[in-house]
Amino acid sequence: MGTENRGRPQFPARPAATPFAAAPPQNMMPFSSSGPVVGSEASGFRPTPPAAPHPTVPSSTPVVGSQASGFRSPPLARFNDPSVPPPASNIPPPVGPYQHFSASAFPSTAQAPLSRAPPLGQPLGQPPAPPASLRPQSQIPSVPMGSPPQSINFASPNVNVPYSSSDSTFPAARPNFQSSFPGYARMQSNADSQAPPLQYPFPPHQGGYAPAPPASSSPFLTHQGGYAPAPPVSSSPFLAHQGGYVPPTPVAAPAGLQSRDQMQHLGSGPPIGSIQGLLEDFSSLSIGSVPGSIDPGIDPKALPRPLDGDVEPKLFAEMYPMNCDPKYLRLTTSAIPNSQSLASRWHLPLGAVVCPLAEAPDGEEVPVVNFVSTGIIRCRRCRTYVNPFVTFTDAGRKWRCNICSLLNDVPGEYFAQLDATGRRIDLDQRPELTKGSVEFVAPTEYMMRPPMPPVYFFLIDVSTSAVRSGMIQVMAQTIRSCLDELPGYPRTQVGFITFDSAIHFYNLKSSLTQPQMMVVSDLDDIFLPLPDDLLVNLSESRSVVETFLDSLPSLFHDNVNVESAFGPALKAAFMVLSQLGGKLLIFQNTLPSLGVGRLKLRGDDLRVYGTDKEQTLRLPEDPFYKQMAAELTKYQIAVNVYAFSDKYTDIASLGTLAKYTGGQVYYYPSFQSAIHGEKLRHELTRDLTRETAWEAVMRIRCGKGVRFTSYHGNFMLRSTDLMALPAVDCDKAYAMQLSLEETLLTTQTVYFQVALLYTASCGERRIRVHTAAAPVVADLGEMYRQADAGAIVSLFSRLAIEKTLSHKLEDARNSVQLRIVKALKDYRNLYAVQHRLGGRMIYPESLKFLPLYGLAICRSTPLRGGYADASLDERCSAGYTIMTLPVKKLLKLLYPSLIRLDEYLLKASTQVDDFQNLDKRLPLAAENLDPRGLYLYDDGLRFVIWFGRALSPDVAMNLLGADFAAELSKVTLYEHDNEMSRKLIRILQKFRERDPSYYPLCHLVRQGEQPREGFLFLSNLVEDQIGGTNGYADWILQIHRQVQQNA
Ligand SMILES: [Zn+2]
Repeated sequence: MGTENRGRPQFPARPAATPFAAAPPQNMMPFSSSGPVVGSEASGFRPTPPAAPHPTVPSSTPVVGSQASGFRSPPLARFNDPSVPPPASNIPPPVGPYQHFSASAFPSTAQAPLSRAPPLGQPLGQPPAPPASLRPQSQIPSVPMGSPPQSINFASPNVNVPYSSSDSTFPAARPNFQSSFPGYARMQSNADSQAPPLQYPFPPHQGGYAPAPPASSSPFLTHQGGYAPAPPVSSSPFLAHQGGYVPPTPVAAPAGLQSRDQMQHLGSGPPIGSIQGLLEDFSSLSIGSVPGSIDPGIDPKALPRPLDGDVEPKLFAEMYPMNCDPKYLRLTTSAIPNSQSLASRWHLPLGAVVCPLAEAPDGEEVPVVNFVSTGIIRCRRCRTYVNPFVTFTDAGRKWRCNICSLLNDVPGEYFAQLDATGRRIDLDQRPELTKGSVEFVAPTEYMMRPPMPPVYFFLIDVSTSAVRSGMIQVMAQTIRSCLDELPGYPRTQVGFITFDSAIHFYNLKSSLTQPQMMVVSDLDDIFLPLPDDLLVNLSESRSVVETFLDSLPSLFHDNVNVESAFGPALKAAFMVLSQLGGKLLIFQNTLPSLGVGRLKLRGDDLRVYGTDKEQTLRLPEDPFYKQMAAELTKYQIAVNVYAFSDKYTDIASLGTLAKYTGGQVYYYPSFQSAIHGEKLRHELTRDLTRETAWEAVMRIRCGKGVRFTSYHGNFMLRSTDLMALPAVDCDKAYAMQLSLEETLLTTQTVYFQVALLYTASCGERRIRVHTAAAPVVADLGEMYRQADAGAIVSLFSRLAIEKTLSHKLEDARNSVQLRIVKALKDYRNLYAVQHRLGGRMIYPESLKFLPLYGLAICRSTPLRGGYADASLDERCSAGYTIMTLPVKKLLKLLYPSLIRLDEYLLKASTQVDDFQNLDKRLPLAAENLDPRGLYLYDDGLRFVIWFGRALSPDVAMNLLGADFAAELSKVTLYEHDNEMSRKLIRILQKFRERDPSYYPLCHLVRQGEQPREGFLFLSNLVEDQIGGTNGYADWILQIHRQVQQNA
């Protein structure tokens, strides 16, 4: 059974040297017990004695901190003995039973000296690890997560504490700071900071066949061989639902059963589909011999294409109206197999994609519920949050958990009478009982410490290449322009460190008129020269922060330092942030060359490709990065990496920091402010101003017999099923696979519940809960009918990218193809014999785009080709990006839109822009390009505007002005004073507004302008045959042949 008993979170205590330890631990729970943890027991619910299941982590999940990393194994799990039944009462005892740490367990240091964060790998103040015999077969220990301070005394010494320069908080050994930059009290510990410069080496067959209609009640297709479509048979009532899911006829209940009222009354989920009631609604493609040829042929025009983009499975949502919106949770199939044997015939990933903070659908804001007096209503046994699928009985005094079926008491304050149909009479005031998505205000037992303020810390490369690129100027201006919009005013805190061969700290204390710079050049023993004023309250230090940002670009304007002490600087930033947690934004331009974490130029080695060592290039080179990521996430620090280098910069290593901390990688290769400045400005602004959930954890629960077994995305697992997310926002999605625990499921419905416990920027602790139901089925065809191609592709992509970390690219591509083949083969076996479908390729309507998306995954930047087809850094950054993308965005990236623009631009101007015509997307094949045309390619991350060779010079002149004949790589698009140009700019703006999560930069390319046209544009035309890879039609034929082998 999937309760959190299996994976109770482990929170080893934070070392005592933080200022928070100054006050004695009082009534705050030790972090290891209740914690800001989804699904942890509220203190009173489980006064069971400590037990010791050691968390196990499935080996397929990205877990950092294996023993090799030098981190300690987590301590004994203390409060989750699954064998001890919970008490019947849910009244909390006056003192939390979990307070197993005595105050003395945390040495209280009244005057914490230098705020020296614990060195990596230092044993944390925690109980000894259990004897091995107590641990269940743990193979990979999860990483112990840091705990917030034990003290309730939150008054951060960073804030409000006047700093006197005579305070001797510096070790005597490092006093010789000296001012050198104008306007800054510069302190430098070692004079010889200028290290010597580092040298950087550096046609398908036209068959003319038409597809058969997707649904047909005819037992036989009359046109075998597929030269003509089978006539639709209109007698079937299901024909109207071609292509979609057909809600099955309820077996033993009236059709109206889906209404929540009755469900609640009857105590069961929505009806299970009558499998017999459904006709087979497969789709098919005819594949036969072309007249006059013995080769198999296929009509490219008949191939299915997702020209409407992602289509969420709305019919399913209509069937379960109380389910959360698919924006938040999508299952790869909404029909859960009832047996392991059935699940094994499905072959596609069985699982879910969750985007917990997705922007709410219009007009459907997630309601916020505050159970002030009753506490949050949760199942006593499995900790499920009350939701629309629970049922009330016993005249309203009991409620039955929909996930584990336990009958719970209704607390007195939550009691409401039931009406004649068994509904609570207060339903209309209870969004938690009527809405699939709801947000609970968390009471204090969900906090280990007062909710943290939003913290933004910036770690900035100021080496000469960073300066020359113009990055620093754009970044500083952008941050300054966002100061009013950073979430969390007036609690928001900010701080900065810059680095080249030394580390530069900035005192931003509010009483200063200008910031004070301190330089530390000793990279081996990092310390904070001024621990209290490096992270400051923005509203108090606003003018100092502004002065700093205004002067930063000129401060380093003449810097000729080519070194990067990135690793030591990162450790310094960690020390500053470890007290509170927060977001760490890294701006990196030069390959780390000094101190810990320095990296080598390893990415250009052509010989490694195709060998067994190939995949090591895609893994971090130095364990330092994984170890740092583990430490960072432990202390609630999320890392976003902005990388700008024009050389190899080892994104594989740097990105690790984002991967395990819930962060994100932004890559601007060869950044130049004149070209990429606008993109950086927008994306950094989005990063800084989007609503962010802080110090979060997320868990997804599901019903009995089903279990989530692996998780895929940017996060770290804190136990078997608890995802640690130091920061989350609407642009992040996570995928997970599930499996059946029992041979046979006996329930009719499986419920899923996602719970995200987090601190909102306003300072409130919240729990966002999404709940959904799905029927259990006994029929493979039903699983396919209810498949969600978007969710499958999302999981597929993540699995394939993970595979590139342990296998060759080719192996990862083959695995994608193989799974599609296996799935279609089993599907074919369902129908082929009875329908004599010999020459046809058949597939479920729900998955008609799957083969194409599979091809697109193989052609995507992380997986495509070999050495020459994408730079290693581009591959790795695209991989990190895809691991976080929500479904819709991912599908757009895999199968971008291609739109013809010239006809629209030439049309007489209308007052109201008619963008409808512009949504006519074209198949991604070169044959659709007219040399007289102008086309826009849009993958969500960038635009490419393709100028046909025979495009009217007038159009080019209007759009490009005097540059119309120039080499387009040197031309930047901007608005010219004519209607056509204005229209084009408006179109691009419109498309950017539709999805603001990235800012697509516009690349211009002219037909025949090689090699630019090739790598920018033609190589992304997924349907074309390029460089030995299959085109779409060939790919389909190949899959079809493999499906038929041994079919
Ligand atoms: Zn339960």
